[in-house]
Amino acid sequence: MTSGYHPFSVPPHVVTRCGNPHHREVSAMTVDVPSFATRALHAGRSRQAASSRATPIYLTAGFEFDDFDHAATHFGTGEGFGYTRTGNPTVQAVERQLAALESGADAVLVASGQAAVAVALLTVAGAGDHIVASTHIYEGTRGLLVDNLARLGIESTFVDEIGDPNAWRAAIRPNTRALFAESIANARNDILDITAVGAIGDEFAIPLIVDNTLATPYLLRPLEHGASIVVHSASKFLAGHGSVLGGVVVDNGRFDAEHAGHNAPHLVLPGRGGLASVAARHGGNARIGYAREAVAPRFGTTPSPLNAFLIGQGAETLGLRVERQSRNALEIARWLEAQDAVESVDYVGLDSHPDHELAQRYLRGGYGSIFTFTLRGGLEAARDVIESVDVFTHMTHIGDVRSLVLHPATTSHAYRTEEERAVLGIRPGTLRVSIGIEDVADLIGDLSRVLAAIEEPVIA
Ligand SMILES: *Cc1c(COP(=O)(O)O)cnc(C)c1O
Repeated sequence: MTSGYHPFSVPPHVVTRCGNPHHREVSAMTVDVPSFATRALHAGRSRQAASSRATPIYLTAGFEFDDFDHAATHFGTGEGFGYTRTGNPTVQAVERQLAALESGADAVLVASGQAAVAVALLTVAGAGDHIVASTHIYEGTRGLLVDNLARLGIESTFVDEIGDPNAWRAAIRPNTRALFAESIANARNDILDITAVGAIGDEFAIPLIVDNTLATPYLLRPLEHGASIVVHSASKFLAGHGSVLGGVVVDNGRFDAEHAGHNAPHLVLPGRGGLASVAARHGGNARIGYAREAVAPRFGTTPSPLNAFLIGQGAETLGLRVERQSRNALEIARWLEAQDAVESVDYVGLDSHPDHELAQRYLRGGYGSIFTFTLRGGLEAARDVIESVDVFTHMTHIGDVRSLVLHPATTSHAYRTEEERAVLGIRPGTLRVSIGIEDVADLIGDLSRVLAAIEEPVIA
């Protein structure tokens, strides 16, 4: 469109003697050339399309409309792109990629995992509603439920025995609007029986929302087993390199207005100004449609298109990384289980784990990279390990290509009581690891050296 002469480029007859285009000498035959400030803003812009192999990064707040009617149509139907908070081509490409990886119908990408959990829950619940959640969830999600959502009038009940379907059933009330759990939970590595809990949700027309961050869609796709919505912290395995934060909500596209409409009046009643209901406009995609048009953009959970690009690029190698990370983790867990300094290892890949059979039923291609192990030497031994590791990085993150270690009792779970921590499988000597893609011999070598040092007999 802008090939050849453009009014904002300096025409050839404008001579600049000193090299500074601001001090131009204008020839007799000059046309109107915009000033320096205007050229700085408008010169050289091109709307020409190019076939980029990589997803282009549309790092832009908004999008130019073609004409008067285009703008009106965009605002009327939501089609196309107008403003990045409501839609962006880079973000949309990653949403479709992640929806495809999770076997979902559609996805909304947001700025963090916490934003994904908040958007998913606020899509299905409002003041006066109730959520049933697993006790074994991320501490930030627990805070969201017990502090923030409670203040908005959304109550939560927690289920300890997540393997007992009757425990879920017993917690459901007439105003329950979501069941929430993690597919693989930290710190005990519990596995959720998605089919069983999803069936209870179906019976009561309540969506099961699964945080699939630890499992990743490479190992497990909850929507294939009866979950309605999946959320992720894309900051972890999806992005994979520990450089950006992000989150995603993926929906199965099977909202059934007839079956579940009584639990979702905001989806089935007409909208403001006589607008057709969300369900009438989006059909089975009513939940994700509502999340995209009325939750994420209003609470402003928008991701940067640059971060979206990095998440999409990371997800391209998800399978390779998780396969390697899972293989490394299993080898390290088996090795740790045989060490005298180690009291227990909570890794679902081990025969000794109570959920090992459930894991074999649900996980394909590995058992994941995150687990905890507990040292006989308690807090002091844990401190020694944290302070002596070399190849492992000491930080509060998971799902990185690098191996990471953290002491949950004094960090992520410091504000829980000792009894509460015990229920969650966190003791003074417990360490959490997130295994990376390094050579496994170097990781075992690092732990071996460190454990040998703490095994030195203590002379009283
Ligand atoms: C990290 C994490 C979150 C929160 O994600 P952020 O991207 O840090 O906001 C939620 N759930 C699980 C299981 C996580 O590990």
